[in-house]
Amino acid sequence: MTTENFLIEFEKELQEIPKLKVSLKQHCRFRIGGPADFFFKVKNPDKLKKVIALVNKYKIPFLVIGEGTNLLFDDEGFRGLIIKNEIKGIKVNPKKGLIEAYSGTPLKEIIKEALENSLGGLEALTGIPGTFGGAISGNAGAYGRSISDFFEKGIIIDEKGNEREVDKEYFQFDYRWSRIKKTKEVILSGTLKLEKMSQPQILERMEEIYIDRQKKHPPPEIACAGSYFKNIKLPDGNFIPVGYLLDKVNAKSIKVGDARVYEKHANILINKGNASSKDILTLASILKQKVKDVFGIDLTEEVIYVKANPLNE
Ligand SMILES: Cc1cc2nc3c(=O)[nH]c(=O)nc-3n(C[C@H](O)[C@H](O)[C@H](O)COP(=O)(O)OP(=O)(O)OC[C@H]3O[C@@H](n4cnc5c(N)ncnc54)[C@H](O)[C@@H]3O)c2cc1C
Repeated sequence: MTTENFLIEFEKELQEIPKLKVSLKQHCRFRIGGPADFFFKVKNPDKLKKVIALVNKYKIPFLVIGEGTNLLFDDEGFRGLIIKNEIKGIKVNPKKGLIEAYSGTPLKEIIKEALENSLGGLEALTGIPGTFGGAISGNAGAYGRSISDFFEKGIIIDEKGNEREVDKEYFQFDYRWSRIKKTKEVILSGTLKLEKMSQPQILERMEEIYIDRQKKHPPPEIACAGSYFKNIKLPDGNFIPVGYLLDKVNAKSIKVGDARVYEKHANILINKGNASSKDILTLASILKQKVKDVFGIDLTEEVIYVKANPLNE
């Protein structure tokens, strides 16, 4: 009854309804996942605000996703509404070094815009796939820099569908973490502050990083979700790369069905074709155990496993 009323009010408010039983395979880079009960692509802020207000009013479980490059959906899909965020747009103030963008904007477009305006810093994030919203939520980063290094403020949507401006401290950024990961609040937009830098200097660094990433990161046709486990942060701020530990336990020789370890990077699990979420989770738990047995270290997942029934969490 609640679901029926939700759909009726949804149609009244948005003049369209979510799609039903949409396979999540096509909405994540792992190409794994059963059907979502409801699926809705949103391209403008007003619609997103209305949807957020409605799911909260009717207590419908939901998840906002970007490009699904950091997600492992369950074989059983998702009992609720998946909201695919396609709200895009960038505004630059070159004099102040500010870039403001909607959360559905691909990160690579923001990096390109920074280059065109001779604003440096973001070039370290060259090659990280996904949207700005996904990057903020997980504090994406590489080559010693993270999105939080440049973050000034953001706009989130509260459960009644209202906008709220919040500062950087609100996000409690840490290594591949922000409070958004826990609270599941929705990010509408964010503002970054960058430094002036010459275009040739930015381009040179982008090219270096592009070449280096090609050596170890899988090309787009390989199904994966980036690094599976978080690197180990030491008290002095340095990191032990998990790929190194996994190589030492011979991770690349282990497979579960079509779930494999990428030949060029032991911390990237790939779907060779028909891997299920269960195959990936089983492979991951074998690898975790091996690292625990040999090094006494507990690995934590960077990839986000989305349970089919979030109400059971
Ligand atoms: C080949 C490859 C290489 C990668 N390399 C890196 C790397 O070098 N560094 C790195 O940090 N990551 C890397 N990743 C992981 C991934 O690209 C990043 O985590 C990326 O920022 C995720 O963006 P997304 O839009 O795909 O988010 P999704 O995977 O769709 O979602 C990830 C999380 O963000 C949340 N989210 C997304 N949008 C919003 C929003 N608007 N409001 C609130 N929450 C939101 C989702 O709910 C989910 O919890 C890599 C992935 C791949 C496949």
